[in-house]
Amino acid sequence: MTQRNLITGGAGFLGSHLIDRLMEAGEEVICLDNFYTGRKDNIRHWLGHPNFELIRHDVTEPIRLEVDRIWHLACPASPVHYQSNPIKTAKTSFLGTYNMLGLARRVGARLLLASTSEVYGDPEVHPQPESYRGCVNTIGIRSCYDEGKRIAETLCFDYQRMHGTEIRVMRIFNTYGPRMLPDDGRVVSNFIVQALQGHPLTLYGDGSQTRSFCYVDDLIEGMIRLMNGDHTGPINIGNPGEFTIRQLAERVRDRIQPSLELTTQPLPQDDPLQRQPVIDLARELLSWEPTVSLDEGLEPTIAYFRERLREGH
Ligand code: NAD
Ligand code: UDP
Repeated sequence: MTQRNLITGGAGFLGSHLIDRLMEAGEEVICLDNFYTGRKDNIRHWLGHPNFELIRHDVTEPIRLEVDRIWHLACPASPVHYQSNPIKTAKTSFLGTYNMLGLARRVGARLLLASTSEVYGDPEVHPQPESYRGCVNTIGIRSCYDEGKRIAETLCFDYQRMHGTEIRVMRIFNTYGPRMLPDDGRVVSNFIVQALQGHPLTLYGDGSQTRSFCYVDDLIEGMIRLMNGDHTGPINIGNPGEFTIRQLAERVRDRIQPSLELTTQPLPQDDPLQRQPVIDLARELLSWEPTVSLDEGLEPTIAYFRERLREGH
């Protein structure tokens, strides 16, 4: 039986890739977005399709719809965007998740929350298993996002305990790929765009901090398996391949223009020093693991940005 799927944040980077997978599987899709960081171009190819509907709506306001599944992704993910209006970010996380859980409860839908590795903050445990409770500053410039996602997780589990709402909680680690915004501010898109424009690559701090980068196709496969499976989570989905930011800069530069310089800028406040997922649970419960290495994933990502810059937007 086809499912009626609501994808909040569906015009964004991850949401639009998820929509492609669901539409290709013949499911019904409602994409809901306020277009803060999303783009119509990401979903333009589905406009007019009988299985596809687009709603401009802000998740901080309630909405009534008949759906079977809610993929709740609406929230700016890049520090640049989520910090530009931090109170709105906190509202989006809390009220948005509250409204979507209210909807899920009313219509008996299953809700998947796109949570984040940021719930681990600047971790003292490395790598991070789901059982680690995190080290998050409640009053810093990242708190609107980190604490927002933590309360969103809390709401999910309280709806499950109080109302029996079916939830799935996914902790997403840094993910990259085509359809990130050129001015998104996240590190992979920044480095690629800088290199393609012949500018120096900007390392924040000395570039010794680490991240683990997952290619978008792998991430979406994990998301679909979690939604379809029997396990609530929270569950880490990410690629355990860990790189320093300097190593990432060197890889991107060497693929595009090896003569470019790496420059340094101050490290932003509360920037986590290290991050790597433990994915034993995903392997065991979802039979999922990433299949695309950083080198393999950079290829189509660079090609995407090359095309976008050539088109001039
Ligand atoms: P994105 O910024 O590309 O997409 C977010 C989408 O949500 C955009 O289309 C935006 O317009 C929409 N949105 C924001 N606020 C909204 C609101 N109040 N009402 C309706 N729509 C709203 O980011 P992304 O990388 O696609 O991230 C999607 C989700 O995954 C987010 O919840 C993010 O926190 C989570 N996540 C992403 C990553 C990653 O590396 N990409 C890592 C961890 C968690
Ligand atoms: N970063 C960087 N140069 C940039 C953008 C980001 O060195 O132009 C660093 C940033 O300080 C962080 C890492 O890259 O240590 C990942 O940043 P991003 O914003 O992509 O994700 P997050 O910090 O949320 O994991």
